[in-house]
Amino acid sequence: MSARLSDARRIVIKIGSSTLVSPEGEPKRAWLAGLAADIADLKTRGAEVIVVSSGAIALGRRRLKLAAGALRLEEAQAAASVGQIALAEAWTEALAAKGLTAAQILLTLDDTEERRRYLNARATIGALLGLSAVPVINENDTVATAEIRFGDNDRLAARVAAMTGADCLILLSDIDGLYTDNPVKNAEAKFLPEIAEITPEIEAMAGRPGSDMGSGGMITKLLAAKIATAAGCHMAIALGQIDRPLTALAQGGRATWVLAKSNPAAARKQWILGALKPAGSLTIDAGAEGALRSGKSLLPIGVTAVTGNFERGDAVIVRGASGAEIARGLVAYEADEARRLIGRRSGEFGAVLGYPGRAAMIHRDDLVVL
Ligand code: GLU
Repeated sequence: MSARLSDARRIVIKIGSSTLVSPEGEPKRAWLAGLAADIADLKTRGAEVIVVSSGAIALGRRRLKLAAGALRLEEAQAAASVGQIALAEAWTEALAAKGLTAAQILLTLDDTEERRRYLNARATIGALLGLSAVPVINENDTVATAEIRFGDNDRLAARVAAMTGADCLILLSDIDGLYTDNPVKNAEAKFLPEIAEITPEIEAMAGRPGSDMGSGGMITKLLAAKIATAAGCHMAIALGQIDRPLTALAQGGRATWVLAKSNPAAARKQWILGALKPAGSLTIDAGAEGALRSGKSLLPIGVTAVTGNFERGDAVIVRGASGAEIARGLVAYEADEARRLIGRRSGEFGAVLGYPGRAAMIHRDDLVVL
C-alpha cells in the first residue's frame, strides 16, 4: 500500500486544523518542521507536492481573543483573515528551512467549478510546480459566503487533486482512518485498511468522530474520496499528529486507502469526452493534425475556422481539413478571441488580443485525440 505514496508523481497533502494548530492557537512548529522534511524528501525523489492547509480560523481566533465555541460566519471570516497570515508565515518558515519556497493560493468553490477560473488556477499551480515551489492552498474564507463555500478543506483538497491531475491525495487528520463504526463509542468498531469501492454500506458506516477544531468528519472524507477517485487519484486518510507522518505512511503505516480504478490522465480524458457537451468546433489544417497526433498542443496558427459561441474552458470538437472529428478538448480562448487568432503566430497574439495570451489554443493536457 505504501507504494501508492512512493510511486506517486503529484501528491496533494491536506492538513487539518487540529493537526497543525496547538490548543493555545499556535502553529505546532516542531511537528511542521518534520512534515517539511517529509515534503523535501518527496521532492528529492522527483515528486511534486501540493499542500492544502487548514488552520487559519484556529490561529486567528486566539489572536482576536474570540471566545471558545462555535463562531458566527463573520467572526470565523475575521479569524481567518488574521490567521491566514500566521499560517502562511508558519509554512514559509518551515519549508524555507528545507530550502523550499512556499506559495500561497486562496481558492473559492467557484475557482474550482467554473471552468474558465478552473483553468486559471490549474495553470498557476502548474507553473508553481514547474518552478519547484510548494503551493500551500486554503479556502478563501474571508470572502466566501455560505452559498459559495466549501466549508471543509477535505473537499477542497479533493477538488485540487482532481483539478491538478494528482495521483495521490493524503488527508492528515486526527483519526488514523475509516472504521465500521465510531471507534470512540464502539469498541467493536473495525478498522478498514482499504476501500476498493465506496458502497452505500460504507457510506452508512461513516459516523462523525469528533474534533472541535476541524470541520471535516468522516462523511466529508468519503465525499472527498469520491471526488478524488473519480479523477483517478488514490486517497489515504492517515493520522497527522505523529512525527514525520508521510515517512510513516510510506513505510506502510496505518491508514485507510480508498483506491481509484483509473489513473488521472485516463479519468480526465473520460471526463472531456463523456461529461462535457461541446460548445463549438475548431477546424485545423493537415500540419496541425500531424502535430496533434504526435502528442503536441493545438496552436492558433494551425486553426482554419471556428464555429460556435464558447467560453474559455469549454469543450470543443476539433475537425480535420475534411471536416471529420479528430479530437476534443478544452479550449483556452473564448470564441471571439479564437476567431481573431485564426492562423496567427504567437508573436502576433499581443497585438491581436491586447494582452500576451497563451501559446496553445488547446493545451495537450486538455486534448483527447480520437
Ligand atoms: N479553511 C479553514 C481554516 O483554514 C478550515 C476548514 C477545514 O478545517 O476544513 O481554518
